[in-house]
Amino acid sequence: MLDAKCTYGEEVCTYSILGFQELSETDIEKYRQFLECTECKGKAFFRKKSSDGKGACFGSRYHTENCGEGGSSPQRERESRHAVEVNQIISDSNLVSIDFFSLGSKSSSEPKARPSKSKPSTNKTSKTHSGTNKQTRIKVLGMEKVLNSLMRGSDLAESSILIEVDNGYKYKAKNLFVNFADAEASDSSKDAKPKMYWGAISHSDKELEWLNPSDCNDIGIPIYKHKSIIFDRFKVEKGRDLEGAGIILFGKCFWNSKKTRKIIELWNSDRIFISIAED
Ligand SMILES: [Zn+2]
Repeated sequence: MLDAKCTYGEEVCTYSILGFQELSETDIEKYRQFLECTECKGKAFFRKKSSDGKGACFGSRYHTENCGEGGSSPQRERESRHAVEVNQIISDSNLVSIDFFSLGSKSSSEPKARPSKSKPSTNKTSKTHSGTNKQTRIKVLGMEKVLNSLMRGSDLAESSILIEVDNGYKYKAKNLFVNFADAEASDSSKDAKPKMYWGAISHSDKELEWLNPSDCNDIGIPIYKHKSIIFDRFKVEKGRDLEGAGIILFGKCFWNSKKTRKIIELWNSDRIFISIAED
């Protein structure tokens, strides 16, 4: 993407990448969460130029299938495959269980070999209340596939299929998966029910301790408690790695004390998946 449209209050402006990177640091921070694709209007992000010579760029994780700005890339193709796969799972299964520990495969669409303690998919025969045997088809899904499919607009976000998060805790998919733009905050952490929030990261603060979504501008995601574990796991080394990254996390959403900003607090360091933008 060479240009991006910025809608900031009443101000609407189309920036070229050259023009945007010339802005002051303050203006870049001010406008970067208000960018969208000039063609498909997908929420967009700005990536600074890297110290090893990669140029500054605009991008979007949300280009529609036909958007000329999107183009195809191995990452986008993988995401689309995951969306098809997840749609198939939804139509074939009664229950989907989330495996927080499966990193999924980066380079191929083949199902990843799992450690022997987890089951890839099982057909359980369970007794119903009436005493007859009924087949319950349970599928196990890793976080990468869940995130990729949501970002490519799979049916998961609107589905009534039951998702098991911990043994025994089941949610309807449409109540569990929430894009950052639709997140509703409770008054306090104590009142908040955990959900799986997802979207794209616009940028982090300088210390890489707070993540700001590109989907909206009223949410902050503090990660300082879990930073080193998360960065090791997802190979995040610098702020640029987070710019435009896809993210899903299990956590609680509540207002800060001044009620000016929604906080999404991560449950623990395992319940997050970050997909760094590859292009
Ligand atoms: Zn687009």
